[in-house]
Amino acid sequence: MLPPVFRFAPSPNGYLHLGHAYSAVLNDHMAREAGGCFLLRLEDIDMARCRPEYTQGIFDDLKWLGLSWEQPVRRQSEHFSDYAVALEQLSDMGLIYASFLTRKQIEAAAAAESWPRDPLGISRYPGTERGLNQAIAAVRIARGEDYCLRLNMEKALDRVERVPGWTETGSGVEQQIAADPAAWGDVILARKETPTSYHLSVTVDDALQGVTHVVRGLDLYHATSIHRLLQVLLGLPEPIYHHHRLIGDQNGPKLSKSAGSSRLCDMREHGVTPNMVRKELGFDPIRAG
Ligand code: GLU
Repeated sequence: MLPPVFRFAPSPNGYLHLGHAYSAVLNDHMAREAGGCFLLRLEDIDMARCRPEYTQGIFDDLKWLGLSWEQPVRRQSEHFSDYAVALEQLSDMGLIYASFLTRKQIEAAAAAESWPRDPLGISRYPGTERGLNQAIAAVRIARGEDYCLRLNMEKALDRVERVPGWTETGSGVEQQIAADPAAWGDVILARKETPTSYHLSVTVDDALQGVTHVVRGLDLYHATSIHRLLQVLLGLPEPIYHHHRLIGDQNGPKLSKSAGSSRLCDMREHGVTPNMVRKELGFDPIRAG
């Protein structure tokens, strides 16, 4: 049997803070316990917000915490063609359509109190462009209009035999969770400026990298519904999910308070050691060798 594969997948659009440290060290810890490997993936599809100094910061901070990872590190910005293949597959199934409404227009359409919101509290897209003639859409795209590509959620759900759930171990015991992708409405899978989205690239990469255990923060718990649906539509394997507690800035750990910041680089400057961080987050000190 192949060894289990874990991954830490930060976006280099800022410096790592204590919450990232928890996620990374937990992934490493679980990988060691399971005799598996630990990968680092840079989720840098939003090239306008990602910067080389943040990428370097990720390497420096993780090394400082005593972690090491398999090579090569996958950088999503170098793999747009992989996401295009997946998008094409979904498009061939008739599940993708172009949408031109701006966020403002969606908010205006969704002004009613009772308008449904997605799990992040954002007004759900009203679906008004689902029937848009795609030849006309192609002309508008060619003219340079801003657009995004959305998943037709209703059609996507019709295509799968049943809504897929997932195996969750975040509470300490293994549970079967019922997914609810419909709660998100017609999610965006690509944009004019960025030819993929977080949901699409994370799903494709976890499969391409053979990730068996997705260990990440509870803030991404509900997004798992979308990832599971995409996995089933694209015929990709199902990892086990472990959504861990979030380390907040408020009422948060003592170390960030004394350093005045929860950024690892700031703590380092204030004399905090990696073992102090690990101890505060509930982990053993760095192992030698
Ligand atoms: N890149 C995402 C983030 O930094 C994490 C993605 C994931 O673990 O699935 O929040």
